[in-house]
Amino acid sequence: TAESAKSFFRRNAFVLFTIAAVLLGIILAFSLRSYQLTYRQIKYFSFPGELLMRMLQMLVLPLIVSSLITGMASLDSRVSGKMGMRAIIYYMVTTIIAVFIGIFMVIIIHPGKGSKDKLHREGRIEQVQTTDAFMDLVRNMFPPNLVEACFKQYKTQYSTRVFTRTIRHSSNVTAGMTTTQIPVPENFTIIPIPGSANGVNALGLVVFSMCFGLMIGSMKQKGRALREFFNCLNEAIMRLVAIIIWYAPVGIMFLIAGKILEMDDLAVMGGQLGMYTLTVIVGLLIHALCILPLLYFIVTHRNPWVFIAGLLQALITALGTSSSSATLPITFRCLEENNGVDRRITRFVLPVGATINMDGTALYEALAAIFIAQVNNYELDFGQIITISITATAASIGAAGIPQAGLVTMVIVLTSVGLPTEDITLIIAVDWFLDRLRTTTNVLGDSLGAGIVEHLSRHELDAQDCELGNSGIEEK
Ligand code: ASP
Repeated sequence: TAESAKSFFRRNAFVLFTIAAVLLGIILAFSLRSYQLTYRQIKYFSFPGELLMRMLQMLVLPLIVSSLITGMASLDSRVSGKMGMRAIIYYMVTTIIAVFIGIFMVIIIHPGKGSKDKLHREGRIEQVQTTDAFMDLVRNMFPPNLVEACFKQYKTQYSTRVFTRTIRHSSNVTAGMTTTQIPVPENFTIIPIPGSANGVNALGLVVFSMCFGLMIGSMKQKGRALREFFNCLNEAIMRLVAIIIWYAPVGIMFLIAGKILEMDDLAVMGGQLGMYTLTVIVGLLIHALCILPLLYFIVTHRNPWVFIAGLLQALITALGTSSSSATLPITFRCLEENNGVDRRITRFVLPVGATINMDGTALYEALAAIFIAQVNNYELDFGQIITISITATAASIGAAGIPQAGLVTMVIVLTSVGLPTEDITLIIAVDWFLDRLRTTTNVLGDSLGAGIVEHLSRHELDAQDCELGNSGIEEK
């Protein structure tokens, strides 16, 4: 009836606006494409999108820090220990499944036809040692300077250097591809959206905030002032999120439209690259739409689609921004407001998940590495495939939640089995698109994880509620 339609609209207004905005953006972009806008014009056009990206990123740092500190401080250390274990197990299990799906798909579909000569090893440029990459990952957990950690991370410096050199060395790649030349823009940057260049060492901040929060929690009454301070900070940031969310549909519309205007002709998608793209898409879809919902259902016995429907706005934002950390504020809101997930869970699980749990990226890295091996006629033995799975997992943990970070950490995976890092250029042309899809998968994985951890931790949470007589810290 009209009444129920009205109430449906009111409840889902944001999501409906956002979907409409995406569609409008696509239509607008395709109708403007024939005008052949210049780079500058496109940048002007996508300015509202850039603003959204900046606003979201502005909130990420205080959001991660304040939510983790309050999250940890408001929990008994036994409870947070158990919750942490569950979250880590969930992250590991889903990441390993994702890697497995990626490997399986690329072996079955076999998108890379060995059209390149047998791998020639001379003239290789500087390589990252796998051990160094692992050590960088751990180094990042302990930033020597907290202020510096807010804008700089250690890990990517090394891989980025190899990566940018790689790009410079081979600005025109023809080798092995059945398609014509894949142009790599002169001024190629790893982070394609201006202003999104944030090298926040999220991992370091996460580790510090968790430890700091735990200590505040253990101080009981003495820690009250700090607990209240961070709690207030968190509350204020979430209020800002509530305002920005109104602007999100507009921003997303221009982000998507701008990207479509910018993209090269779809002709490059022919041949092997097209098959490769398809393989990634199928792999991501299987993981996001079959495995993760199934896991959620098995653990919670609840309908995963209802849960996912509540997340739609976060998923679309991930698609629009291709950054899971920029999406974080919206993910928080969707989970807390739409799905009613306990704040003690979201505050803890979401910032950690956005930093280290990237199923889509893991799946992608393993798949892409094997694709590059296929193109090179390079037979991988079983041991090397295992090596790829391990390094792809590490690379996904180390990748920052920013656009195309996964492409940079690819260097680690390729190096671990002696594949040429130059060949990253083979897949650059489609990465902007695949990045969006893997980011969406990453956000979905984090969110379903929050639902699962909440379900598993309900007894402890209830017990804590009773103990505090519900007068406790602040939230439900
Ligand atoms: N853009 C992805 C994210 O933010 C990371 C990646 O490049 O895979 O989750």
